[in-house]
Amino acid sequence: MKLLSFQSILVYLFLIVLSACTEAPKADMIILNGVVATMDTQQPKAEAIAVLKGRIMEVGDNASIKALAGPKTQTIDAKGQFVMPGFIEGHGHFSMLGKNKVDLDFLKATSWQEIVDQVLAKAATLPPGEWIIGRGWHQEKWLESIEHQHGGYPYHDDLSALTPDHPVLLKHASGHSSFANAKAMESAGINIETPDPAGGAIIRDNNGKIVGVFEENAQDAIQKAHLDFQNLKNEADLLAAWHHTIELAQEECLQKGITSFQDAGSSFSEIELYKKMAEANQLRMRLWVMVRHSYKEMKDRLDDFPMLNVGNHFFTCRAIKTEVDGALGSFGAWLLAPYDDKDNFIGQNTTEISEIQNIASLAKRKEMQLCVHAIGDRANREVLNIMEANTLGKADHRWRIEHAQHLHPSDIPRFSELGVIASIQGIHCTSDAPFVVKRLGVDRSSQGAYAWRSLLDSGARIANGTDAPVEDVNPLLSFYASVTRKRADSGMEFFTEQKMTRQEALHSYTLGNAYAGFEEQEKGSLEKDKLADIVILSNNLLECADEEILSTKVLYTIVDGKIRFQG
Ligand SMILES: [Zn+2]
Repeated sequence: MKLLSFQSILVYLFLIVLSACTEAPKADMIILNGVVATMDTQQPKAEAIAVLKGRIMEVGDNASIKALAGPKTQTIDAKGQFVMPGFIEGHGHFSMLGKNKVDLDFLKATSWQEIVDQVLAKAATLPPGEWIIGRGWHQEKWLESIEHQHGGYPYHDDLSALTPDHPVLLKHASGHSSFANAKAMESAGINIETPDPAGGAIIRDNNGKIVGVFEENAQDAIQKAHLDFQNLKNEADLLAAWHHTIELAQEECLQKGITSFQDAGSSFSEIELYKKMAEANQLRMRLWVMVRHSYKEMKDRLDDFPMLNVGNHFFTCRAIKTEVDGALGSFGAWLLAPYDDKDNFIGQNTTEISEIQNIASLAKRKEMQLCVHAIGDRANREVLNIMEANTLGKADHRWRIEHAQHLHPSDIPRFSELGVIASIQGIHCTSDAPFVVKRLGVDRSSQGAYAWRSLLDSGARIANGTDAPVEDVNPLLSFYASVTRKRADSGMEFFTEQKMTRQEALHSYTLGNAYAGFEEQEKGSLEKDKLADIVILSNNLLECADEEILSTKVLYTIVDGKIRFQG
């Protein structure tokens, strides 16, 4: 045997020292004893996860993950609970979600009187002239009939007499109509002579008297009057109020297990504020935003767009939002054939097709995603046509139709053929269930309303969300609706043959939404090197009984490897 040379001993010693210095770093956090649904097809199940520097270090069994812990590692014992990727809200309105917590909320109101009482209580706390803003009322949800009404809507007179000093603006749950009192109409310069604007209607009775409900674009004048009033306030106050609403929105999302939020339409000024927050590390969850303005306002202002992964992946704006019609509840959905419950009426085309075409070519030029709100079957067909013409030859554009709610059966396969994502909201199906058949009849409802099974079977990609604050942002309620198509309150079912499987619904709310934002490499599943956005829930969403979905508690919400909420 040959003796080792002096040089080889030196090399050997050097290697020992080097390996000691480069010893693998220890995890910042480990989660043990979990039932982990990773959403990663290579390794769908696991027991434990290690996190390092905001990313997933390893996914595996308890023993292999424990081996990655050091003295400073934080340990979470999941105690056999369900661990999954953080929920991604696929379509909501972030600042409005926060603002909704400041304004009056009528989502749960079951009578007009309840709403009037809330308005009067608020008026008592405000100085004269200050606006009273509310949202979420829905005439179809009222259990008591209204004495003084037209077409199911209350006349404004009674409320106007009780609120002579405060303009009152109350948004419909759909966001597509508003109720205003006399003071608000006066501020907006609206009187009996005011004509209906294009794409909107001021509801009047048979004598031409204004009822107090403003549909679609007819809301604009009153909203502008409110905005003008707000703009008289000083900038620092407005900014502080905005930050407060964002804080409230983050709080609510984190409590409900949401780690990323896809915002369906922000202004340039809001985008600037979000970007600043992300750069200053002030966001506690991730935002992915669509910019929403007219073509004229956007065409020369998109130099800085898309904005990708700002502030360590906390803010991205890579999409443009526009809309082609309104909502079904307020007869705004643009249909191929008339409503069953409104003679010769096919709904509203709210944005001219030429404008949408201009926005589409702008999105194409900027390589941004185009996201178009379309509810009615005519609306969806028009948008599919525009998308087909603009994305020809480009396979991976990920343009989206927001809602994709009522489809002509012949248009369903086009989503998959064209690579257009159907960005649906599970909870809208069961919320709308009581009036869809009235509006559309049985045939249209059974063949193309919330046609998730048909879309999935045709190979379409689905994103899922709530349209919050139109609905509660809680993903568990929307997940329940997605897999049951049954109302949580009354048990009423809506064409259950179109429901999703548990796996499909979970995919839609995680990897599906990540894909819909070009983010599936970073989010949506629990895989090595992905962002450490994780939730722990009290029930196994893939296996628990249907009703248990509704009683599921969020135990931990982890974003970027840090606990942001603990239940
Ligand atoms: Zn929306």
